[in-house]
Amino acid sequence: MAMIDNLPALRDVIATHDLSAKKSLGQNFLLDLNLTAKIARQAGTLDECDVLEIGPGPGGLTRGLLAEGARRVLAIEKDARCLPALAEIKELYGDRFDVINADALELNPLEHLTPPIRVVANLPYNVGTELLVRWLSPDTWPPYWQSLTLMFQKEVAERIVAQPGSKKYGRLAILAQWRTQAQIVMALPPEAFTPPPKIHSAVVHLQRRETPLFPANPKILNRIVAAGFNQRRKMLRASLKGTAPDIEDRLVEAGLKPTDRAEQVSIEGFCKLAQVLEKK
Ligand code: SAM
Repeated sequence: MAMIDNLPALRDVIATHDLSAKKSLGQNFLLDLNLTAKIARQAGTLDECDVLEIGPGPGGLTRGLLAEGARRVLAIEKDARCLPALAEIKELYGDRFDVINADALELNPLEHLTPPIRVVANLPYNVGTELLVRWLSPDTWPPYWQSLTLMFQKEVAERIVAQPGSKKYGRLAILAQWRTQAQIVMALPPEAFTPPPKIHSAVVHLQRRETPLFPANPKILNRIVAAGFNQRRKMLRASLKGTAPDIEDRLVEAGLKPTDRAEQVSIEGFCKLAQVLEKK
């Protein structure tokens, strides 16, 4: 196996620092540095960017990002047991690498970063989805980051890139694709991780759109998409009843069929309806 740096193998790092994987923190580590370097390359050019990495653990993906030339990596890790292993990476890379021991759900990392910024992470899946929704729903658009390159449970990755008409198409697909170009760039079997999880995984790369795909007020769009998919088996005229007293007329005005179900409506269709509702 080709070496990507002069640091010890990850298996040795884990043994030296006694980093037995904690289930409560979703710790399934990537130990193959060629694989982590490949994931790092999916994020795009790194040499002019600060990379925000959430959940570096023993540092496999971190080392991939640095070896691939990231200008700087800022890593946020909740588990203090990982800090000595990450300090060894700091010794090699100096100013190009910093760690903050914190919960990524609590910390705003922006003041520690210099644009342009890319986000890369292999996170526990529940934390990953929560952060994805937050990264996609800032108060103003475009957001502080250029792209998000994130590991997800395969099932969630498929929901992010799903198209209308598919059972996986829903709130996450619309939120992601309205504001980013999202694609699955790698598939990983359970054996890629130590310990292996029960599920398959996939890396999704989301490149921000400078302006959303179609104009719409984000709050109204979010409200109708939530209402439509909360009762996805119902026709729009029933599932969206609570959003406007004359919803059938509004649907027709937006070019939608009141008898369609949410999963048949394109992002453009939802945006048109949001525009019609805002006009009122
Ligand atoms: N990046 C490493 C790799 O690829 O081998 C570790 C990945 S492991 C799936 C998830 C990492 O996220 C663990 O190191 C865990 O301690 C950390 N983590 C879990 N919840 C976190 C949170 N809320 N904030 C920051 N880090 C978290």
